[in-house]
Amino acid sequence: MNIAVVGTGYVGLVAGVCFADGGHDVTCVDRDQKKIASLQQGQIPIYEPGLEDLLEKSKARLQFTTDLKTAVEQNQVVFIAVGTPETADGSADLSATFGVVEQICKFANDKKFIVMKSTVPVGTANKLTLFCRENSRFEVEIISNPEFLKEGAAIDDFLKPDRVVIGCRSDLAQNLMREIYEPFLRNSNPILVMDNTSAEMTKYAANAFLSVKISFINELALVADKLGADINDVRRGFTSDSRINPAFFHPGLGFGGSCFPKDVKALVHTGQEVGVPMSVVQAADQVNDRQKLVLIEKMKDYFGGSGSLKGKIFAMWGLAFKPRTDDVREAPSLAIIKELDRLGAKVRAYDPVAQQTAQAASSVKFEAASSAEDSLHGADALIIVTEWNEFRTPNFARMKSLMKTHVIFDGRNILEPKKVGEAGFQYFCIGRHLLSKKGPT
Ligand code: NAD
Repeated sequence: MNIAVVGTGYVGLVAGVCFADGGHDVTCVDRDQKKIASLQQGQIPIYEPGLEDLLEKSKARLQFTTDLKTAVEQNQVVFIAVGTPETADGSADLSATFGVVEQICKFANDKKFIVMKSTVPVGTANKLTLFCRENSRFEVEIISNPEFLKEGAAIDDFLKPDRVVIGCRSDLAQNLMREIYEPFLRNSNPILVMDNTSAEMTKYAANAFLSVKISFINELALVADKLGADINDVRRGFTSDSRINPAFFHPGLGFGGSCFPKDVKALVHTGQEVGVPMSVVQAADQVNDRQKLVLIEKMKDYFGGSGSLKGKIFAMWGLAFKPRTDDVREAPSLAIIKELDRLGAKVRAYDPVAQQTAQAASSVKFEAASSAEDSLHGADALIIVTEWNEFRTPNFARMKSLMKTHVIFDGRNILEPKKVGEAGFQYFCIGRHLLSKKGPT
């Protein structure tokens, strides 16, 4: 089938390349000329494992262009995967979405199906349907097809989805979508067909629930810290209940990325609009803001108060909001760097792939190290922010020779407290038994 995908970011590019891998002919459109030029040369502007190889494999069925008009004229089905960032009041900014829909209406030369892959507030498809009726000479049907891929595992998620959610009004739309997704549903995972509004809400429900899980375990870990319980044992204990799925109960520095923070806020905003305060979801968001800076409190305790961090140098391992991506949107690393800067401390940070994105996104300057070890020279402490695999088995002896003070603040619980203690380091983490004592040695 011929498909156009508008927006070649983390979602649109993965979708386009995977659709091509599934045998469809795909035109990927973006307004960013630089991005399109590099894609035309086979270069991927983002870091996503496996994407470059898949693009190379499927390139015969892929085109990259900034020419939306031709793409619309030549394709009956147009996916939209442009950004829907949050606005100041927490609602989603739909200007890019409506802008593209308006263009599609203008360029339509026949009946068109617009498939919304962007995460859009509940009720948007209905608004777009009315908008298209007023603005297009031809019939335009809006299909809701929220995306559930995870950055860092996006290819696998797309090629083998747990489920495909489709919100639509007609059998024709449903059949088209079944045909498009047919290559990806050989593992018998379901296509779930529903109305547009329910499909839109499904996406927010999933992200909000996952955010609540994360904030729940993080808050529990803070209490465990105070009372001397070990959150790992607590988690093992309560998730052994067959009603409680253990996935996503890992205490850390909170959630980041381009989706959870903005989707949680957008759902809270939607609740306000219809007079239903989303108190549980709102609390998850507030807990998350606090969690991002939880290590700073531990560092102040250790070094002796707020003023004590002034002039200190902190090595930071990890900048991306999670491993296997270069995405730093809403990353805890940036919040920590900003707060340390405010307190007069310096950060020397290393990330295997997110150095550049982080430096571009950070509101304050920080030093980029060329390796994990390089970040440690003369450091007063190490802060672990992203759980990249390469940080899990450090060479403690070498670290000791490089660092000024032998203390580690592990925001992802990736090290083993006993081992770290035996290696002669003081160690602080999230909600686990500590072997460390207060104050520098
Ligand atoms: P992104 O910022 O990485 O990419 C958006 C792309 O759209 C950019 O390349 C931008 O240049 C392009 N664009 C913007 N306006 C355009 C226009 N008028 N015409 C053509 N191109 C335009 O965003 P993303 O992370 O891919 O997210 C896209 C949507 O998918 C969002 O609604 C997001 O919430 C949702 N989503 C994201 C993820 C994720 O993990 N990133 C997962 C599921 C859903």
